[in-house]
Amino acid sequence: MTKSLAMEDLLRRLRLGQLVSELPDLLEAARLQKLSYEAFLANILKAELAGREDRALVRRMRTSRLPMQGRLENFDFSFQPSISERQVRELAGGSYLKSATNVILLGPPGVGKTHLACALALTAIETGHRARFTTLRTLVGDLGQIGNRDAKTLRAYLEPELLIIDEIGYTKLSPDHARSLFDLVTARYERGSIIVTSNLNFTDWGELLGDDVLAAAMLDRLLHHAEIITINGRSYRMRHHSQTDQTITPKGGYPTRASARRLVRPYPQSATNQSTRSSTASSSKSSKYCIVVLIRECPRLCRIISTLTPAL
Ligand code: ADP
Ligand code: MG
Repeated sequence: MTKSLAMEDLLRRLRLGQLVSELPDLLEAARLQKLSYEAFLANILKAELAGREDRALVRRMRTSRLPMQGRLENFDFSFQPSISERQVRELAGGSYLKSATNVILLGPPGVGKTHLACALALTAIETGHRARFTTLRTLVGDLGQIGNRDAKTLRAYLEPELLIIDEIGYTKLSPDHARSLFDLVTARYERGSIIVTSNLNFTDWGELLGDDVLAAAMLDRLLHHAEIITINGRSYRMRHHSQTDQTITPKGGYPTRASARRLVRPYPQSATNQSTRSSTASSSKSSKYCIVVLIRECPRLCRIISTLTPAL
């Protein structure tokens, strides 16, 4: 066995895969720069570590199944003035992941919910967290098979620090699917963050799950620690079509950030942005309706709300 082959074999057996390709160059550089043993050792350790981190990032990207590389830098906040850019940028800082806080993105089609969810997930992945993206339709399909003891599938939704459930609202759930979704949300409650995107108002979740009580209990867990981003704006897809530039909103509208916030316990705050504050009055009727329904359906939420807003 030649000298370099013996070295390669050693590196492989020690699982120092990055050094197999990089060691010859690093040795050459060390000779030319007359590096001390200590400096050379530091260089090879750094090279191996950087290689491992790169491979781990690629692995996290692959297992996340993100459908798009939507980034915050590519998001035009001026197109959606109802979004608090500051709130989104604070979320991108990642502290919500440590506190297992959820992020709820509400709004009509095309306003950037999936883009923002993917952008937050990308930042999380790049800072070392694991994320998993799925649509509600795929999720309930997968969870349905978990009756067959597919523990690996369940782990894929439970273990990542961040789970993104996209498109809540397009799939009406069977009782079994509704129960599986509830169980998953319960299992992740206070353990791992969920980003949810939905075109539905909270009051319509009972219909989606086919069970008002289950929906209220699920919302109770989702909203207990949550940041809510309500996007009341135009579809970015339709931005060049003036005639189709009508926003499709559910009956009663979406809760504004300010009104929705009354449903949840405070999370380390960003200041409420002016545009959402000004739209609070116009939707206060629907927000109150939303609160009344939730109060009726959910005693724990009722207690939370009564401590926050005794006047209600
Ligand atoms: P939604 O999930 O709300 O239906 P998407 O996030 O899928 O909307 O957005 C539709 C398309 O428009 C995507 O290609 C997305 O990248 C783009 N898009 C949406 N809003 C913006 C925005 N404010 N700035 C830049 N691109 C946007
Ligand atoms: Mg979407």
